Amino acid sequence: MSVVPKHEFMASAIVYPASTAEVQTIVVWANKHTIPIFPISMGRNLGYGGAAPRVRGSVVLDLGRRMNKILDIDPEDYTCLLEPGVSCYALYEEVQRRGYTHMWIDTPDLGGGSVVGNTLDRGVGYTPYGDHWAAHSGLEVVLPTGEVIRTGMGALPGSNTWQTFPYGFGPYSDGLFSQSNFGIVTKLGMTLMPAPPDHESFMYTFEREDDLAQIIEIIRPLRIGNILENVAQLRSAVQTLAVSGRPKSDFYKGSGRIPKDVVEAECAKLPIGKCEWIYYGMSYGPKHIRQYKLDTIDTEFKKVSGARRIDPATIPKDNYFWSRDKIAAGEPDLEELLWCNWVLNGSHIAFSPVSPIRGKDATALLEITNKHQDRQGVEIFPAFVVGLREMHLIVECVFDKHSPSACEAALASMRGMVDDAAKSGYGEYRTHLALMDQVAGTYNWNDNALMKFHERLKDALDPNGILAPGKSGVWPSSFAAGRLLS
Ligand code: FAD
Repeated sequence: MSVVPKHEFMASAIVYPASTAEVQTIVVWANKHTIPIFPISMGRNLGYGGAAPRVRGSVVLDLGRRMNKILDIDPEDYTCLLEPGVSCYALYEEVQRRGYTHMWIDTPDLGGGSVVGNTLDRGVGYTPYGDHWAAHSGLEVVLPTGEVIRTGMGALPGSNTWQTFPYGFGPYSDGLFSQSNFGIVTKLGMTLMPAPPDHESFMYTFEREDDLAQIIEIIRPLRIGNILENVAQLRSAVQTLAVSGRPKSDFYKGSGRIPKDVVEAECAKLPIGKCEWIYYGMSYGPKHIRQYKLDTIDTEFKKVSGARRIDPATIPKDNYFWSRDKIAAGEPDLEELLWCNWVLNGSHIAFSPVSPIRGKDATALLEITNKHQDRQGVEIFPAFVVGLREMHLIVECVFDKHSPSACEAALASMRGMVDDAAKSGYGEYRTHLALMDQVAGTYNWNDNALMKFHERLKDALDPNGILAPGKSGVWPSSFAAGRLLS
């Protein structure tokens, strides 16, 4: 899914260590020969750079190929300990195989990636355990100089609480190893969710693009109050058309944004009916508990004129609604990839700013994305992914990866969105390799004080600058010339 010419993020070699000790050997070797190395778990970070290294010519450490064991699943504490190559599918299947029907895993929209890589990139899933970083407990890390540490309770020999108490004693160091180039994670502990006695998906549709501000204002108190219990999604109708897997040209042959009347007419043929926004959510627990929450949600959403709840009984089994239903219940799926078919040779890159859950912020961000969509003539799908007290707007931009001009337009639209968002006080939660310097540059309060701190840590921990130089915009001083790569 490259958005820049492939040689820009090309690895010179790939190595497949089988153990923490082999990772240490590689790190020692990299220091000896001053070769940059770049760790991945499964490398399926699609939309954010995939398996590619930040610096051309790096040796990629593909940990997932051979370090793919589920080291532990504890059915009483609801925890597990994983190596980097355990995919969401593998964990889900193992939980099922062992008959642990009382536990759920949490999965992002695509279940083919690893639990470790997604968690380290602070990825998102859609059960109440959707904030993966918040749900983890304990890391084993190989430092850039080759030593191994265990964080939290893992530092206490004989401890049996590594996966149940994340903090241990003293400074809490785990954060230093997420979205970072300070260490290579070889084991990660994860908490699992107790399976609720029952669960029920629901879907609301809203008729006008301008309803957005009111919907978001309604969502905020419901989400913070845990009436809306999962990391839920408010999606544009265009994305729902696209996730059918049909190309845009099936609906509209012209250039530029697909006209509203076409979207409305096409949606009218689907179970969602004529609409601009669709809310996908799930309610958990026994019927009498769900009923209270679902009634409250219904009363609130119906304050938006024209809002409709679509009865799941009327939705055919091959509809995307049922993919969301699986994911919100922790069952991995891949249907989400279908919207890449919207354009020929569909590839994608994401702009993912964070904002308060407020109507005015949602509207401001949508204006920014619409402006750059029209300026560059790109195809985008905005979806508001609502955490607890904030929301990520995930703007997926799909482009023809074999067309240099389409790649350039996609990247230019992303760069424009990042800059405009930063001017209004919005920053990205995660980004593509090609945008890391730009995004890091927007977090520049007090004369770049945070980046200076990160760079000081980088030089102290990695004096030769061999581990993922430039990842998240953090360059070792030995690599200062690398800034030219941005
Ligand atoms: P990797 O690619 O292995 O890792 C991600 C990054 O973390 C790497 O680049 C590396 O820098 C670092 N890293 C990985 N392992 C280590 C390690 N052991 N030590 C140190 N650093 C490491 N993502 C979401 O979060 N939520 C979604 O809902 C979602 N939906 C998607 C939908 C579509 C259609 C697409 C195309 C993508 C979506 N993604 C989503 C993005 C992506 O597919 C997933 O996040 C995927 O799980 C990431 O791949 P991975 O787990 O193999 O991670």
